Amino acid sequence: MPRRPIFAANWKMNKTAREAKLYCAEFSALGIDPSIADVVICPPFTALDSVRTSLPQTIGVGAQNSSNHLSGAFTGEISIGMVAETGCSHVIVGHSERRALFNESPALLSEKLDRVIECGLHAIFCVGETLADREANLTQQVLLSQLQGSLKPILSELSTRWTQLTIAYEPVWAIGTGKVATVDQAQDAHHFIRSTLSGLLGPQAGKGIRIQYGGSVKPDNVKELMAQPDIDGALVGGASLDPRSFYEIIKNGASQ
Ligand code: PEP
Repeated sequence: MPRRPIFAANWKMNKTAREAKLYCAEFSALGIDPSIADVVICPPFTALDSVRTSLPQTIGVGAQNSSNHLSGAFTGEISIGMVAETGCSHVIVGHSERRALFNESPALLSEKLDRVIECGLHAIFCVGETLADREANLTQQVLLSQLQGSLKPILSELSTRWTQLTIAYEPVWAIGTGKVATVDQAQDAHHFIRSTLSGLLGPQAGKGIRIQYGGSVKPDNVKELMAQPDIDGALVGGASLDPRSFYEIIKNGASQ
């Protein structure tokens, strides 16, 4: 069965709830056709509610993070139950900024993935190498350790619930830099991720799990990325902050 494209907007720490409402009105007015792709918007926590209530139900809403703990004395944290109650469908787990700036380890990310999947939501799990890793020929080694480190501890749960998992391959050197991986670099990494998923979860999951590319995706480069056999969508940072540009990415990418 062909994999349905999935495009997600990662707003990072941008837009207040009021600004988010204005964005959603503009984005909804563009009239994206829900049959062409899954579309998910991931605003900051404070805008989840206003984004959910401003968008049609055909568009998903995602959090950019959630706690590995279910409740308790964890000042400043947001639990998966709190996220779910806003009507969210997705959670981004393991974005490279969280790995690098907040020291999120593969073991911690495994716990976060577990909470998201257990709660019935969809996880967008980010993996990717730094420039130093790539230059030292360590790309596959890094991807393997990120995937194994976080997926292995929850294999039994994922074996029946892998449809709740999407992987985002985001080479760290391409995030917010304007440098896009070449289509060959992206396809090679996606192919490697897919074979690793097959090895961990079996061939059906390997074939079925969607893998998004992320890193300076724009309306004019998404088509060639989406033409690759193992690229199923995009996780978009900077270019998703403008509703028309995110709309163009979806339209151009899904028509490939
Ligand atoms: C991201 O942060 O997930 C991302 C892909 O950012 P950008 O599109 O700005 O490179």
